[in-house]
Amino acid sequence: MFVDELEGLVGQGRSLLQRTKDQCLRPDDARRSVEWFAELEKIGASGVALLSPQVVADGSFAKEGHGTGADWLGAVTGTSPSAARKALKAASMAEQSPVLQEALAKGELSSSELDLVAQAAAIAPKGEERLLPLVGKASPAELRDELSNMRAETRSKEVAHERRSRVHRNRHFRWRQDPSGGIRGEFFCDEAAWARFAPSVESRAVALQKEAHRLGSDESLDAFRMDALLDLMGEGGAGSAPGAIVLIDAESLRQGSMAPGGTCEIDGIGVVSVEAATELLGQGNVQFIVKDGVDIRTVTSATRTIPKRVETALIARDRVCAVPGCGARHGLQIDHRDIDFADDGPSELNNLVRLCRTHHDLKTHGGFRLEGEAPDWKWIPPAQPKSAGYIARARRLAAIKAKARDRDGP
Ligand SMILES: [Zn+2]
Repeated sequence: MFVDELEGLVGQGRSLLQRTKDQCLRPDDARRSVEWFAELEKIGASGVALLSPQVVADGSFAKEGHGTGADWLGAVTGTSPSAARKALKAASMAEQSPVLQEALAKGELSSSELDLVAQAAAIAPKGEERLLPLVGKASPAELRDELSNMRAETRSKEVAHERRSRVHRNRHFRWRQDPSGGIRGEFFCDEAAWARFAPSVESRAVALQKEAHRLGSDESLDAFRMDALLDLMGEGGAGSAPGAIVLIDAESLRQGSMAPGGTCEIDGIGVVSVEAATELLGQGNVQFIVKDGVDIRTVTSATRTIPKRVETALIARDRVCAVPGCGARHGLQIDHRDIDFADDGPSELNNLVRLCRTHHDLKTHGGFRLEGEAPDWKWIPPAQPKSAGYIARARRLAAIKAKARDRDGP
């Protein structure tokens, strides 16, 4: 009965799909249709996760001629054996957890979200309960950040140290000529080592991109990051460019390893061990932001003047782009939320947010607004949202105006 009903539903879905190509949908209806299809995909993934452990347990996959449960699932879902093994592992993890069973029964989890939540369950008892409330609100990047935090909390000082040693042993920089032209490279290194260099590369890249965009270029930050890297190598190092910012809580700093619910990360890089972070103490122009409960203190070395309290508090508050569900941590820009900078917006903390470039553009040129208070921001679309093409044109126009303003001077 249940199976017949399900089959009937799939039949309905197929016939809808058949009609999709004959429809001439308006843009908004096409978008909504995609959103519903995505919802169906989640429902499908949840059903697969709920029932596949049973098929593996009773061995009925062999009736279809498959040697293992993973082979069967891979064939049925059209995924690789390793992806199927991962999915099965997550599904059997979910079998042990009532809250996960409940979320799956509601069809709330995509297969990749289930995978992340199941990883949380494997890290700590009831770990899934910490991650699950973030699903649907946070981006995949934020979910992975939270997993990194959870792993860091369970790691002893020794394990954290061993982990860094492994990274150090595996450090490399490889480059080769691509057969179709150009040099391709890949590198792997310690986070603290990279933190000495990354802020210079990032700030130079952003400056180069800004200048190029004014001249009408729309090349990505990745492209200018390459230019910045080559420039800096030519100049023989980072020089007196901005330093890394380390954000850590007082308890983790005291005990030398990550405290439960603690923070230890390098701004724009990610979660690091307390050992790696403290290694940067007293380094040239590295700035430390220490959170002690709700208090925020800064520890800066002598070569850098203490930044404005507001800027420090802003960095501590907005670890990632403030738009809910974005999670971008690279190249964040400071936005004057209510009153635009050009109109002398006051630089007070509650008027400032950190946004990624994309969301900054949507807000400045696309009419989107950010309302509420940190960390419960609401991202409000305008009454008549604009297309991506309109926003790109508006950005170019604003760049041209800014350039004219610069040239004419005050
Ligand atoms: Zn964003």
